Formats: sequence, structure tokens, C-alpha cells
Amino acid sequence: MARPPGTRLAEIRPPGPWHALPHEQVAAHLGSGPDGLSDAEAAVRLAHHGANRLPEGRPRPAWLRLLAQFHNLLIYVLLGAAAIALALHEFVDAAVILAVVLVNAAIGFVQEGRAERSLNALREMVTPQASVRRDGRRLTLPASDLVPGDLVLLDPGDRVPADLRLTRSRGLRIQEAALTGESAAVEKGAAPVAAEALLGDRSAMAHSGTLVAAGQGQGVVVATGAATELGRVGTMLHRVESLKTPLIRQMDGLARQLTLFVLLLAAATFAIAFLLRGYGLAEAFMAVVGLAVAAIPEGLPAVMTIALAIGVQRMAARHAIIRRLPAVETLGAVGVICTDKTGTLTRNEMTARSLVTAAGEWVADGAGYAPEGAFRPVSGDPPAALPPVFRRALQAGLLCNDARLGRRGEDWLVDGDPMEGALLAMAAKAGLDPAAERLAAPRRDEIPFDAQHRFMAVLHHGGSGPSVFLKGAPERLLELCDRERGPEGDRPLDAAFWHGEAERLAASGQRVLALAERAPPAGGALDFAAVDRGGAVLLGLVGLIDPPRPEAVAAVADCHAAGIRVVMITGDHAVTAAAIAAQLGLAPAPLVLTGRDLAGMDDAALATAVRETDVFARTTPEDKLRLVAALQAQGRTVAMTGDGVNDAPALKRADVGVAMGLRGTEAAKEAAEMVLADDNFASIVAAVREGRTVYDNLRKVIGWTLPTSSGEALTILVAIGFGFALPVTPVQILWVNMITAVALGLTLAFEPTEPGTMARPPRARSEPLLPPLLLWQIAYVSLLFVAGAFGIFFWAEGRGLDIDTARTMVVNALVVMEVFYLFSIRYVHGTALTLRGVVGTPAVLLGLAAVVAAQFAMTYLPAMNLLLGTRPLSLADGAAIIVVGVAVLGLCEAEKAVRRGLLSGARGRAG
Ligand code: ATP
Repeated sequence: MARPPGTRLAEIRPPGPWHALPHEQVAAHLGSGPDGLSDAEAAVRLAHHGANRLPEGRPRPAWLRLLAQFHNLLIYVLLGAAAIALALHEFVDAAVILAVVLVNAAIGFVQEGRAERSLNALREMVTPQASVRRDGRRLTLPASDLVPGDLVLLDPGDRVPADLRLTRSRGLRIQEAALTGESAAVEKGAAPVAAEALLGDRSAMAHSGTLVAAGQGQGVVVATGAATELGRVGTMLHRVESLKTPLIRQMDGLARQLTLFVLLLAAATFAIAFLLRGYGLAEAFMAVVGLAVAAIPEGLPAVMTIALAIGVQRMAARHAIIRRLPAVETLGAVGVICTDKTGTLTRNEMTARSLVTAAGEWVADGAGYAPEGAFRPVSGDPPAALPPVFRRALQAGLLCNDARLGRRGEDWLVDGDPMEGALLAMAAKAGLDPAAERLAAPRRDEIPFDAQHRFMAVLHHGGSGPSVFLKGAPERLLELCDRERGPEGDRPLDAAFWHGEAERLAASGQRVLALAERAPPAGGALDFAAVDRGGAVLLGLVGLIDPPRPEAVAAVADCHAAGIRVVMITGDHAVTAAAIAAQLGLAPAPLVLTGRDLAGMDDAALATAVRETDVFARTTPEDKLRLVAALQAQGRTVAMTGDGVNDAPALKRADVGVAMGLRGTEAAKEAAEMVLADDNFASIVAAVREGRTVYDNLRKVIGWTLPTSSGEALTILVAIGFGFALPVTPVQILWVNMITAVALGLTLAFEPTEPGTMARPPRARSEPLLPPLLLWQIAYVSLLFVAGAFGIFFWAEGRGLDIDTARTMVVNALVVMEVFYLFSIRYVHGTALTLRGVVGTPAVLLGLAAVVAAQFAMTYLPAMNLLLGTRPLSLADGAAIIVVGVAVLGLCEAEKAVRRGLLSGARGRAG
């Protein structure tokens, strides 16, 4: 009962539960056939049913986000202070306090919104894909384009993109934890089940959101979007991830403790000012409010969040997409990068170069996938016709193969596995026509390639009867062969010869594949156990070139300079892996271990082995997990790449799991902290560099904010403690905080990478938020600020200036000192006194311009003079203020130089 195209599907009700109907009936009911839907029909259905997406969780409304900005201890303190100021009829003070509150909230609101938006935009960069058959062609589409009736293909690691009624399955096992909570994978098949079967027992269905753990399958879409089982249980897409990382949470906690401490200190100061020093009630109160505002680092967590968000954006621009925010911090501490080889360190653009058979070796010219170039013997002239054993080997290579070659403009491209594409190109160079060969011998059955068993087998029916062709890793296929094809027919296998040939090809970095043939197993079906028992005939070995990526060579060198180890973990042959590792500069003579070696090691032996070994070859996903654990046990922070469904445990275990965006399965991407949009090793290194930059910037933000706020606070404390006149009024302190915290502190979140960032060893994971060095810096800089403020104040008074003018000078001096200190802290690891350091970045210059404008306004605008109690200053006064700023910069740089000298001296002695 095929349905006329374009009929509204909603009008067709299933005659029973999908899982209880025969799949043929389901397909017919939905108007789907073996070729799937047509594109035109799919478009009509998409318009009718809408995109295959779960409803989005409603984002927090803007007014709530704005309100949340006021939920902050400091704001409560300030609001209380404003109320008291009003009660005391200090209207100007109350207005300034309220202005500070509003400016703070507005900035927090805008910046947090921007950070959230930029993180959401990232999420859209990793959209799930689905494989479908439409018009008889296999396509990869965004999962959101699926419609009921679409024929979807499932492979290991896929996330099932919609609710499917299975029509075919082969060893298909699906993990349905997302839906049923059951973490063990269950077997699935096309046979209908009882109508009353519960969700977990509907083995004929593959439900949206579940994960393909193994095997392959095909099914017709019966429900999309909110109509799926997952949609029905009310699952929403959670769009807003928490913006908090461990470091920011730590900072939040610290800020809260500091606030409490400052409030206690303020209470004590109030008592001293009022009871001992003869301040009036209102005056003492305002002084204490000024102290509290100066000392509480309220804006710090917000600025840190912004620094992280900027880091995430910069990483995305370098093709590294962060899926979990804490990874931004962890990346900066990475000490070992474990990476696979094919496609990450190499280009994954394969060219089949040589074919070795028992009748000699032939080579193919040309590069890329263009089926153009000669195919000729290594030595001697080519005979009139291609010898039969070569023809048979090439046939095996093109039939045991799922790839297609196509042309876009001048370029030849592969649709499918590049290695299989290279086999097609080689066959074409030898004069075979892959399309015609495939038509003449249609495929009847297959055992798909799996990294675990390392071969692929197909059953074809050709003119000369049925045949099974195999291709796979040489040592694996040699186990399955007992004969070899010679010029005069089949003869016993000379395994030693073939192992030698495989090593010879691999030694130059070529990837080696073996090709074989066998009679179909009894019974006709291609079952794994029968093929695994052996009895095949080896046809030959193919050597494929897959050159290292040039940028990977540079990135490996960068890693070594940055004290980061690079370890190659590959499924490829040990000799090939070692050759490529040497070409990449991983080590001059890389030490190699294979998965088999690892299997024989206990944890103690493994711990020693991971210290020295650069290359692990012929590994399984389980080996990856053991290697991550062993490296972590040495206290290293480990980044690990992966793409398959079986890599998920290792990716989760690693400190930074890195999934491949192009080759990777959904399962790997979901387990990973970071996804590489271009699968390129160099992008991991770029992300590490940005990770180090972000961490530095966080430290700069902290290193600037804490000393400047404690410097201001100390100035007030000292004045009250010693009974001096206040060198700045509380309202002026509020002003300084409002202006500088916004315009200056924030600029540090935008700092670019410092020179030498990748020449330092990685930071220890255990490094505290406030290392002793930073504590010392806070003390040193606070004292400089106090000295500067009082220095200017007494100097002005000494020259007979009135107190308002003297205070105006102090306010300006505080801001100028903050500016100069900002320039110093921009370079934590080196001197700021370079051209680059002095010129600054656009962010810094913009912040600086805003601050200068604000200070001129407060000093020279009559209205501001009235409001803030300031007075215009002379040029000479201005010059004196700049001198104080320069002195602070000089003293900070001198301290850095002494510290560096002490450090290198200590290192020299230790050395
Ligand atoms: P890496 O782990 O660095 O990506 P790899 O691609 O060689 O390296 P696997 O995909 O695990 O790792 O492949 C392991 C081996 O299996 C290969 O070296 C090759 O000999 C064989 N092999 C890979 N793909 C196929 C395939 N499609 N058909 C047959 N054999 C294959």
C-alpha cells in the first residue's frame, strides 16, 4: 500500500505498534522502499513534520538574568549602605553608591550574556549527522533533516538519530541508557516483537538518542523530534551549560570568604573611627563603605568567566571545539599528548604505490586519487598483458571495498575510506574498470572491517562462481592463509617471505595491506568463525603512502620545546608507525611496543614502559585505556585522541579527551572534552597554547585585581588607624573602583599569548589558586600603592594645596598606578619594558582611553567637581602623578628582575 507522494503522513495511522508489525509492512506504510525516499518527497515531509530536533529547554529570560546580577553579597552590602546614606541625608553618596550597583549589574549582565552566547554558538558547530539512503544513494545529512519514512543506516558509535523500525541488522547491539537507564547494550534485529513489549524489550526498534555499541543496521524512521520516545519522556536539549569551571568555583569561594573577612574588618574599622578617632557617624560609616567596596574583589569571578569564554572562542578559531568548559583550564597543564596516527599526524590522503605478489613487484605512478599514471614492474619492461595474479589481487582490492571515486572540477575525491579509494585508483591505473567489475560480480554478503579483528571480507557472485575476498593487516591475513597464488597456480604459503616483504614496505613509512581469496564457506553465508578458521590463498601485499602532515612536524617540535611528550598510539604496523614517528621528529630512533607486548605486561612493567616508549602500534582501544591510566599514575596530565565507539572509555579517563570531528563517531565526541573540527594534531597543540594563555590571563586578572583593591583598602585603613585625614573620600574610592575595575581589569581577559609561552614546561595540576608568589605580590604592590597615595597626599599638603586638590591628586595617582601596574602584569613571565609591552593591545588601549577620559572628566568638569568633591589640577601636579605611576612600574619590574635572578641563581646552584 504505497502512499502517493506528498500525502500528509499524519493522516496515516499505523495499524498497530511499529515494533509488532513486519518491517516490510512498516516500510510500505510509510511509503519507503529499498532505495529510501526521494529528495523531493523528503523535502515535502520535512516541511510538514518540521526538523528532527528535541524541543529546546527555554533559556533563562533576560529579566531573570538581570535580577541574578543583584544576588551577590557585595551588592547587598552596597544597597544597605545606600539606604543608610539616604537615612543620613547623604544624598550624593547614596546616588554614587546606587550608580556603582547599577554599573556593576549592567556590566555583569552584558558580559555574561556574551559568554553564554559564544558557548552556545560552539555547541552548534558539532551537530549530529546521520547516514541515510535516498534515491538509492548513501548520504550523510544533519540529523535534523530526517523525516518519517527515511531509510537510516547505523554503524558502531552512531547515536541513533530518530526512532527507527529496523529492517536489517548484523550483530547490532545498542546501548539504551539514555532512554531506559540500562547501561548494558542489547541485541537488536528486524523481527517483530509482541505488541505489549515494554520499551526495553522492543528489539525491533532503535530509539532516538541511544548509542550503537556494535554491528550494523538499517531502519525506517517512524518518528522524529518531539514524537520520538526520547521526546515523549520530556527530554529537552539543555542549552546552557554552567559557566563555572573548577578554578572559577574556587575563586567564587575565595571571594565569598574575602567578603566576610572584609565585612568584619570594616566593622572593626568603624568602631575605631567612631569611638577612638573622633569621626562623625556618617563620615565613619561612609569611610567604611569605601573600604569595603575597595577591598571586595566582586568583579573577579565575572572577569575570569569572560577570560575563559574568550579562550574558548580563540580555540574554536583554531579548529578545537571545547565541549566541557573545565577543559580550557586543563589544556594548559597537559604534559603528554597521546595521538593516533592516520589522519591526525598524517594527511590520510593515501596513494597505493606498490603491489607485491609471488610473481614480483609492480609500482603505480601518480599522486592523489586520479586514476591516471602508469602501473609497471619495478624492474624490466612491462609484459603485453597484466599477469593474472596481479589482476586478481587488484580485483580483490576493488571488490573488498566500499569506497567510490568521484570528480569535483579538476580534483578526484574519495567517497569513503581513503585507503580503499587508493586501491580503486591503483586498479584503474592498471586498466581495470572498478564500476564494471562491481557490476559483473555483485556483493552477496560481507564481514565489515573492525579494528578488533583487522580485516574485511566480502562474498561476490561473478561469472566464474562465488568467491570470498579478504583484505586486512598483513600479519592477520597471513594467519588466515595457508597458500599463496604464484604464476603457476596456488602453492603452500611462504610466511617468512611475506613477513619480510611487509616489513620492507613498512620501513619507508608505507601502510601495508594484504589481499587474499578463498572459497565460500559451506552453507553459503559469510560467517566470521568460518573465515577465521583459515584456508585462504594470499594474493599479494599493497604498500600505501600516507605522508606526515607538514604542520604536524612543526607542532611536534613545539610540544618538545614546551616540555610536552607526544606519544603515538596507532592501530598500524609497528614498523610503519616507527618510520612515520621518525619522519615527524617524535624521536630520532623511536622506541616501539605493540599491543601484544602490552598484553604481556603487568602494571609495574607498564609504568616503566610508558616512561620511555614513543610509539605503541597495533593497539586496541583497551590498550589506550591502560596507557592513559599508566601515564596519569606518573602525575602527568594526559590528552588522548580517539574516534571509535570503543575509544570512549579512554577519552573519558583522559584529562582531556580529544575526539575527531571528521572521522569520529558520535560516541567518541560525546565522551570527549574537545572535538577537533579538522582532525589535525596541530590543532591540539594550538589548543594547548590557548589553554596556557587562558590560564596566564586568569592569573593576570587575579594578580591585578587583588593587589590594587587591597592597596586602596589599605590606604583607608592606614589613614583611620593612624588618625590621618582621609587621602581619598569614600565616594572617590567608589568612583575609582567603578572606572578601573571595568575599564582596566577586563582588558586582561583579552591578553594575547605571551612570547615564550610554549617554551616553558607545563604547569603542575596541583598549583594553588593563590601561590605564595602571588601572595607576596599582593603584599608588595599594596604597599607601593599606600606609599604612592600618601606620598602624593603629604607632598601636596606640604606645598600648601587645599585638601580637596590633594585628594584629587591622590585619586588620580591611584588610577595612574593601576594603569602602570596593568602594563607590568601583562607580562608575568618576562619584562614589560619592550616595544610590544609598551604599545599594548587594542583592548588595553581602549580601556586606557576610557580611563583617561573619565579621569579628565572627574578632574576638570565642574559638575563632577561638585559631585565628587574634586578640583582641577595644574600641569605640574599632573606630571607629579605620572612620576608616581612610572615609579610603581619601575619598582614592579625591578622586583621581577630580582626574582628572575634569584630563580636562575637557584637553578644554577641546583644544576
Ligand atoms: P590509527 O590508529 O593511527 O588511525 P590505523 O588506521 O592503521 O591507525 P586501524 O583503523 O585500527 O588503525 O587499522 C588497523 C589496521 O587494520 C590497519 O593498519 C590496516 O592494516 C587494517 N585496516 C584498516 N582499515 C581497513 C579496511 N577498511 N579494510 C581492511 N583492513 C583495514
